[in-house]
Amino acid sequence: QMVNYAPFTLLPSAVPKALFEQAYAVQQDFNLLVDAVSQNREFLERTLASTIKVDDFTARLFRIYTQVLEEGLAQSVFLGINRSDYMIDCAVDGTPALKQIEINTIAASFGGLTSRTPAVHRQVLKVLGKTEEASRLVTNNPSQGLALGIAKAWELYGSQSAVVMFLVERVQRNIFDQRCVENELWNRNIRVIRRRFRDVFEKGSLDDARRLYIDGQEVAVVYYREGYVPQNYDPQNWEARLLLERSRAVKCPDIATQLAGTKKVQQELTRPGMLERLLPGRAASVARIRETFTGLYSLDLGEEGDKVAAKAIAAPDHFVLKPQREGGGNNLYGEELRHVLEKIKDSPERTSYILMDKIKPQPSKNYLLRPHSPLKVSECISELGIFGVYVRQGKEMVMNKAAGHLLRTKAIEHADGGVAAGVAVLDTPYLV
Ligand code: ADP
Ligand code: MG
Repeated sequence: QMVNYAPFTLLPSAVPKALFEQAYAVQQDFNLLVDAVSQNREFLERTLASTIKVDDFTARLFRIYTQVLEEGLAQSVFLGINRSDYMIDCAVDGTPALKQIEINTIAASFGGLTSRTPAVHRQVLKVLGKTEEASRLVTNNPSQGLALGIAKAWELYGSQSAVVMFLVERVQRNIFDQRCVENELWNRNIRVIRRRFRDVFEKGSLDDARRLYIDGQEVAVVYYREGYVPQNYDPQNWEARLLLERSRAVKCPDIATQLAGTKKVQQELTRPGMLERLLPGRAASVARIRETFTGLYSLDLGEEGDKVAAKAIAAPDHFVLKPQREGGGNNLYGEELRHVLEKIKDSPERTSYILMDKIKPQPSKNYLLRPHSPLKVSECISELGIFGVYVRQGKEMVMNKAAGHLLRTKAIEHADGGVAAGVAVLDTPYLV
C-alpha cells in the first residue's frame, strides 16, 4: 500500500466573480431538477428507451429501477448529493459564459480534499509576498455541507441506533477525501461504517419491513462512493445493489437519481419546453438553468440524428462525443470522434452516445504538482464544480443547498479526464 499526496496547482487560478456567483445561484435549481427527474418515471422511460437497447450498463441500472418500482418503494426519505461542473466558454465575441459540462449525481468526489486547498494556496501566496491576495482566497468546506445532508437524512430515518454506511471501492484510492465527510458525521455522534458491495452480498439482509441490516447493525443511510461504472459490478455486486435499492434505507443516490445523472438525460433536458414541463411554475429556475446549457444533440436513429452525425463528422473539433460513462477518459474528440462516428453512423450503436458542443475556455499558465512528475509550467484550463445537497421527505423538500465548490485544473493537451483519471489537479479559485 502506498500513500501519495493529492495533486494540486502551485497557484490559484483566476475565476470571474460574477460567473462563480452564477454557478452558486443556479445550484438549488439543479437540485430541484434532478429530484424532479428522479420522480418522473414517464420521462426516464421515454428518455432512456433508445439508450438501454444498446448500452448494457444503463440497461442493468434501469432494470433495477423498474423492479424496485414494481415492488413499491420502501424508502421515504431521499438524499441527493451532486456536483454540477462547468467550464467558462470564451465565445467568438470574447464574452466569457458559464457552461455546464455535466452533473454528477453519484459518488461526486473531492468535497473533502478541496476543503484543504485554500490554506495551501494562501500559504504559497504569502511566501511569494502576496499577502493581500492571500487574504482574498475564499474559504470552502463542502464536506461539512455534505455531512449536514447525510445527518439530516439519518435523523429523518428515525432510528438512533442505525448507522451510515459508506459504500466504498475495493481498492480505496480516495479514502482521505471520504474520511473528511465521515469525520464530520462522527463529530455529530453518528456512527459510520465502510463496506464494499461484496460485504453487502455476503452479510446484508432485509427484515419484513425491508429495514437493511449488515453485521447485525441497522443501516439508515447508504452513501455510494462506488457503483457508477460497469467495472464496479460482478454478478454478486449487482445482487447487492438490488438488495440496497429494495431496502428502506436512504440511498444517496437512489437508483432513479443515478439514472437522472446520465448523459442521455442531460441531452434530453435541453429540448425546448422540457425544463418547463419538469419544473412547472418555476420560470426563474428554468431560466437560470437554461442559461448554463450549451448545445447537446441526440444521435438516436432517424433524420435528426443523421444530420447531427453528419455535422460532427464535418467539423469534429467543435464537438465532444460522449458515451453513458462516468469517471473521465471516455469521451471522444477530434479525429477519433470522426473515425468512430463514421464507423457507427448507420448502426444502432450510435444511440449509446450523445453529442455536445465543445466548450473552449481561455487557457492560463500554472504549475501542476503531482507525485513523480517534473516541475514545469503548463498551459491550463479549469473546471468549476458546485456541490448540491438536498433532502426530501415524501413530497416535501426539507433541505436544498449549495454546499461549496471544487476547482480542477488540467493541461490543455488533455481533452478529457478528471483528478482520479490522473489528468486534472486540485485548485482554488481566485475571484476577479
Ligand atoms: P465524466 O463523467 O467522465 O466525468 P464529463 O462529461 O465530465 O464526463 O467529461 C470529462 C471531461 O471531458 C471533463 O472534465 C472536461 O475536461 C472534458 N469535457 C467534457 N465535455 C466537454 C465539452 N463539452 N467541452 C470541453 N471539454 C469537455
Ligand atoms: Mg465529469
